[in-house]
Amino acid sequence: MKAKLDALKHQLMISNDLESAAALLFWDQSTYMPPGGATARARQSALLSRMAHETFVDPQVGKLLDELRPYEESLPYDSDDASLIRVARREYERKTQVPADLVAETTSHFYALHGIWAEARPKNDFAAVQPHLEKTLELSKRWAECFPDHDHIADPLISTWDYGMKAESIRQIFSELREALVPLVQAIRNKADIDDSCLEGYFPEALQQDFGLRVIKDFGYDFERGRQDKTAHPYMIKFSLGDVRITTRFNEARLSDALFSTLHESGHAMYEQGINPAYEGTPLAGGTSAGVHESQSRLWENIVGRSRGFWEHYYPILRDTFPEQLQGVDVESFYRAINKVKPSLIRVEADEVTYNLHVMIRFDLELQMLEGKLAIRDLPEAWNARYTSDLGVTPSSNQNGCMQDVHWFDSFIGGAFQGYTLGNIMSAQFYEAALEAHPSLPEDIRYGQFDTLRGWLTEHIYQHGSKYTAPELIERVTGKPLMIAPYIRYLQQKYGELYSL
Ligand code: ZN
Repeated sequence: MKAKLDALKHQLMISNDLESAAALLFWDQSTYMPPGGATARARQSALLSRMAHETFVDPQVGKLLDELRPYEESLPYDSDDASLIRVARREYERKTQVPADLVAETTSHFYALHGIWAEARPKNDFAAVQPHLEKTLELSKRWAECFPDHDHIADPLISTWDYGMKAESIRQIFSELREALVPLVQAIRNKADIDDSCLEGYFPEALQQDFGLRVIKDFGYDFERGRQDKTAHPYMIKFSLGDVRITTRFNEARLSDALFSTLHESGHAMYEQGINPAYEGTPLAGGTSAGVHESQSRLWENIVGRSRGFWEHYYPILRDTFPEQLQGVDVESFYRAINKVKPSLIRVEADEVTYNLHVMIRFDLELQMLEGKLAIRDLPEAWNARYTSDLGVTPSSNQNGCMQDVHWFDSFIGGAFQGYTLGNIMSAQFYEAALEAHPSLPEDIRYGQFDTLRGWLTEHIYQHGSKYTAPELIERVTGKPLMIAPYIRYLQQKYGELYSL
């Protein structure tokens, strides 16, 4: 059995290394590659991705997984070996269920559409993407139909990103959350606007970068195993557990953009850096779901990075960094500015309270499109109607409407958006559990000390990688299933105080 397990690990490691090489090509393309490299790079990336896929779905892997079943069943569920075999089998079954032709067709469709979208979006040209988006919908349905055992056509897509979740359970959670959010947004609307003009001005990039790096170093992001570079859209990317990088973009006219994206991506990265090194190169060596991943980025960005205690420590340092720009702005004004709530059109710029309403709109529209109840040609109108009714703002164009996110233009319709809100919900549930174990956390944060929090997250979440599914992890860590109550408590307490509700 030992030899069979080693053979399995060996094959998985090859697939993993090919995928990491493809990831490195992507990173290079988005950071330093000259434009002339684009054509060859597309070919090289496709080759490596295909080789990684073929190595993983090799019948030899299936045979080894079958032969290892008795060994797996002889071990405790949470042993490393049993978990490795279980998670590898899940991945193998998922990847082998989709015919290779369909994989190739979707890959080339999304590659082409991403370029078409990037060109059409600034021109506000929905007509240019409409037929391609219709193709995306058709491919999404065909892909989902490869998994006939589902209650809702979106389920196979959802479980790819958030294994263990289904359309129906998410619909339920979202509708409960919505019931709490809508009155909160309404109550805040009736209050006077917060003045956030202190965030506008001229903030030199190098100084912004120094400050951001200082904070995430304090958080515990390990620069011996990571680095930060500039890209058009910030992201975290891993090549191995010893090389987990983040990217950001700087807006010299607005202080908060790069700062909070840096904190956000460092949360994703610390999760990956905290995984048990013994899992390197196996399917266990990654965050377990989109939702849990997002819970870690949001926890550091919002629960820590937008808290009053955090800024009691860091604001004097920030003001020393930008003495002229922040002249006359006290810590309380700054704290209020970075937490201003205002319904807006763009999801990625939304505040903590309205953010989830953006996600719910997308999730509902995805389900309607997959169910055949909403045609692509009617999408702009449906989108705008939902923004008007849910957020009270109406997009002036498709550019700041249904063409704003890359998601439906470089991946399927369905599966990707729910993770953002699930992450917000989980972040509060995890933080409450951490706080119960360590009531001193708010004091630590006030002193710029994060070892206790990061240590707790590493022990209970990070180190396990993908060993547990998201529902299993939440149950293990908090003793309860996923619950919205902690998140609602967090929002009501914070914003109730901020807006004197
Ligand atoms: Zn994120």
